[in-house]
Amino acid sequence: MEIRAYIDSREVRWLLVSLLVIVLLAAMVNVPFALTKIRSRTAARPPNPRVYDGREAAQRSWPSRTPHDVAWSDPNYRMEWSGFAYREFDVRSPSPEAGVNGYSMTTQLLGWPLPVIELTQMWWDWNNPTLDGPEPDPRPRLVPLGLVANPLLVGVPLWALLFGLPFALVLMRRVVRSRGGRCVWCGFDARDLELCPECGRARSGMLGS
Ligand SMILES: [Zn+2]
Repeated sequence: MEIRAYIDSREVRWLLVSLLVIVLLAAMVNVPFALTKIRSRTAARPPNPRVYDGREAAQRSWPSRTPHDVAWSDPNYRMEWSGFAYREFDVRSPSPEAGVNGYSMTTQLLGWPLPVIELTQMWWDWNNPTLDGPEPDPRPRLVPLGLVANPLLVGVPLWALLFGLPFALVLMRRVVRSRGGRCVWCGFDARDLELCPECGRARSGMLGS
């Protein structure tokens, strides 16, 4: 049986517009929400961080791209915090010499369900000329995957719940009406009639035949 016989073209348009609106709303709150999850350096962290050291820390590597042509030595210490829409890493490596900065990187990944903001702050031996280069101060960076995927991962299930599911129930009711020989649009008993005398719409009572 043709499902199209039970759906009005205006309803299809309404479903598509509502999906678009909900995904756009989710897109609008995606980044502002992630920005509210940024923690300042002095703010409290969630209790019980995971801690890795030695080889375990080295295997997990740096949480973001290291900034120099010269590769940073493998980290030997790592702390991880996580919470709703928030993950943070504090990763360190010993200094190659005494008396200078070692390598150090803190990264916050913020957003839900995927990170959409990355905030990385780095420290190294400022006086080492081979480690010249970028600004170490934190600048929030947009994560493209989270930017595109979050509105869909939030918007589509929300739309399904608010619009898709109720409409599926309406469709089921129309199928039941049609099987009972009634007008699918208004439920009037319109057996053997081409136009429903109650609502005046075509195809009434003809479905399933
Ligand atoms: Zn009718």
